[in-house]
Amino acid sequence: MIQLHSVSKIYGAGAGAVTALSDVSLTIAENEFFTLLGPSGCGKTTLLRMLAGFEVPSRGAIVLDGRDIADLPPNRRPINTVFQNYALFPHMTVAQNIAFGLQSLGRPRAAIKARVAEMLALVAMEHLADRKIAAMSGGQQQRVALARALAPAPRILLLDEPLSALDLKLRRQMQIELKRLQAETGITFVFVTHDQEEALTMSDRIAVMGAGLLHQVASPRDLYDRPANRFVAGFIGEGNFLPVHVRSRDGALARVTIAGADLTLPAETLPAGEMQALVRPERIVLAPAGGTGGLHLSGVVENLVYIGTDTHLHLRLPDGAQITARIGNGDPHLQGLAPGARAALAVPSDALRLVPA
Ligand code: ATP
Repeated sequence: MIQLHSVSKIYGAGAGAVTALSDVSLTIAENEFFTLLGPSGCGKTTLLRMLAGFEVPSRGAIVLDGRDIADLPPNRRPINTVFQNYALFPHMTVAQNIAFGLQSLGRPRAAIKARVAEMLALVAMEHLADRKIAAMSGGQQQRVALARALAPAPRILLLDEPLSALDLKLRRQMQIELKRLQAETGITFVFVTHDQEEALTMSDRIAVMGAGLLHQVASPRDLYDRPANRFVAGFIGEGNFLPVHVRSRDGALARVTIAGADLTLPAETLPAGEMQALVRPERIVLAPAGGTGGLHLSGVVENLVYIGTDTHLHLRLPDGAQITARIGNGDPHLQGLAPGARAALAVPSDALRLVPA
């Protein structure tokens, strides 16, 4: 539905120029909940503003339904935006706010009335239609902002960190609500956040960005299980990163040393060039030393942190590196373990991901 072809954005010129986006290409499908995820300053808002038409790419093309939309002004694009601060009219009522965009499109009165009622029902706010915005909570304002943006039935809704002003409980509730709204309306959502948990919860696919570069576009599960590089692996979820030394490759097999332990892996799982081994804490098990298969690490327990369902075990390895394992509290090997004790951890081979460093 939307395609970005080698889009770059440079603000300013000469010595003060800032490259906000560098050669970004991606495709967003119809009816997708698509998220732009990355740390502050990585270019997410810039990309969103180009889709909306508030910024023009310095290079590259943005194509909607096969047509380059570079010259289309924001109000001629079938795209609407929900802003971080909601940008509602505080002295108007909920219903007037939702009607506003429809009136400026010149829709007939009866049609506006029906659509406002429909939108109020969609966000479960029928009983608050005549309330002034200034007298509403943050979560309620958020719903009104969504209803207003959805009212003209845009084909694409852009959402720029819309939940950042809400407290954690309300935020979680709104995440589910947004996902429902997207599914129910069938409108393509392009959502911006720096919160990986939020992105994983809601998205069909996520574009992970860092410093103006697009690192990977994939489903939440693929990003977590098969990160394309060290940046993505570190940004999504918790991870241990261990040094990898490749000793030899003979045909289909590679002999490697990971954190001082030797093992043999399928050569096809090794990326080219420098690499690190990613190990997710929940894939590590407490095991007797010297077992077969996978990676075996032993060291000294530094710390045990009880977190209800699991215990976080921090183990210091002989080379000085620390590794964190997440052990289920039902595991009998946890019994009697204390800081200062020796412990052995095992990582199954299929839980090792070698990622370009
Ligand atoms: P945040 O999460 O903090 O909003 P972001 O990922 O949305 O960050 P952008 O706002 O797109 O990032 O900014 C990307 C880069 O471009 C930053 O280095 C920023 O300082 C710069 N930038 C953004 N807008 C402008 C502008 N109008 N003029 C100059 N530089 C800008």
